[in-house]
Amino acid sequence: MQIQPFSVNDGEGIRTNIFMAGCPLRCRWCSNPEGFEQRELIGWHRRRCIGCGACAAVCPQGIGIDMEERAECIACGACVKVCPEEARANMVALMDADDVIREVMKHRLFYSYSGGGVTFSGGEATSQPEFLDYVSRELYDSGLSIDLESCGYFDFDLVRPSLERMDLIFMDLKHMDPEVHMQYTGVSNERILENIARLGILEQTPEIVIRIPVIGGVNNSEENIAASAAYVHDVLPAARMELLPYHSLGRIKYEAIGMPFTQDGFYTPDKEEMKKLRAVAAAQGPEIADYR
Ligand code: SF4
Ligand code: SF4
Repeated sequence: MQIQPFSVNDGEGIRTNIFMAGCPLRCRWCSNPEGFEQRELIGWHRRRCIGCGACAAVCPQGIGIDMEERAECIACGACVKVCPEEARANMVALMDADDVIREVMKHRLFYSYSGGGVTFSGGEATSQPEFLDYVSRELYDSGLSIDLESCGYFDFDLVRPSLERMDLIFMDLKHMDPEVHMQYTGVSNERILENIARLGILEQTPEIVIRIPVIGGVNNSEENIAASAAYVHDVLPAARMELLPYHSLGRIKYEAIGMPFTQDGFYTPDKEEMKKLRAVAAAQGPEIADYR
């Protein structure tokens, strides 16, 4: 989806994030909907478009400026090349693993001076287990710090070799109630809870941060936050927790890929509420992390 250099919110120091497409969850609050599926995807940023028509003129599929016929798009990229305003954009592109490695290595000096490195993110990085295994092994062998951000829904044994190379693993815990979890993400939380517990068997003992994206109106009750923190502290006593407030910045991406934005029922907890919920989590034992 993107290789994003100079990130300071996704682990220690200055990092490059590798956002990989494909996710088994469909969280209703997701801010990266372009990463749901593993396929090349072209977007159209209406607000940047000047209506010049260059895109429509080169499209082999006869797709117009507003991409109403986007179902016919074969992601050839011709429109992206000619658009003078970057209104047409590659939202998801195929990339060779060695090219990804070459790209992230360009910033190696920043990693070594800041204590940073590379963070695999998504979408869901574990949904491409072979790619993750290859790239993480190459970066690990180069001595880079590597971190992972994951929704936690994966085949643990399949992904374990990659997990063993990580310095820090961020894993999400969205709700303790399996039915509510199913309602808002499309899957039960059972596999995620099991995988969180299994992080404790990793031999290289990476740092673990269990993240709760706090979605106002969904999982922000004190009861749910306390139950989540109690579970984490019980199965992973050394793990820290990070609570991040919901944001609606993904709206522009929904617009670009022609997907309806249906998050109007959620709200962003304010600073006071977040402070209170962090205290609720800390009271159960976990140290609270803050990478924002
Ligand atoms: S990527 Fe190719 S097929 Fe898709 S809209 Fe652009 S020019 Fe047409
Ligand atoms: S080429 Fe770009 S700016 Fe011109 S009409 Fe197409 S999307 Fe809009």
